[in-house]
Amino acid sequence: IQFKSLGISAPLLTAIDEIGFETPTEVQVLAVPKILNQEDLIIISKTGSGKTAAFGLPILQLTTPGISATQALILTPTRELAIQVDHDIMQMAKHLSHRTTAIYGQHNINTEIKALSKFPEVVTGTPGRVYDHIQRGQLKLDKVKFLVIDEADRMLDMGFIDQVVRIIKKLPKDRVTLLFSATMPEEVRRMCKAYMKSPSTIEI
Ligand code: AMP
Repeated sequence: IQFKSLGISAPLLTAIDEIGFETPTEVQVLAVPKILNQEDLIIISKTGSGKTAAFGLPILQLTTPGISATQALILTPTRELAIQVDHDIMQMAKHLSHRTTAIYGQHNINTEIKALSKFPEVVTGTPGRVYDHIQRGQLKLDKVKFLVIDEADRMLDMGFIDQVVRIIKKLPKDRVTLLFSATMPEEVRRMCKAYMKSPSTIEI
């Protein structure tokens, strides 16, 4: 199977080629068409499966640059992961005019405020800092079409689930929610039940 047959657009295919991905990973084959179809998904897989491109490519394809609106919010448990995911997405967006930014604890808040004032299409961040910017009125979520919860089980272990739920409550109900986790503890299951729309599950 090739990336092209998953329904990915030309500028993204060029970027994939330049990054050096030859064929899609299993999670990409299974998830990309469903995300392009705007379905909610629970993806149970280990890290290293290629999940960032699995959600990054369809999100970039279905968000619109130049309308001054954040359309995708990606929540990660750690600042390292936020930086990594933002970096990966920026590479995928190389031939698009999207703006992306990462916001996370211990990062200069004024730098983040400046970046957010340009309404990046894709924002990746850790829950505490994301909520902080929401409270300050710097992060507007009314146009968000995609929410990604990355490493949900680690969010739980680190005590971030309540914060994640507080953020979810600020998002439009009409959105796609994608949840990635290596395991499915009861609390994560409950969150899926409460905040996702008849999600299908992909287990790798
Ligand atoms: P991730 O699970 O997103 O952290 O990705 C794990 C690693 O796999 C990263 O180094 C990616 O750059 C790489 N990767 C993702 N998709 C592919 C692909 N289709 N072909 C080769 N490498 C990939």
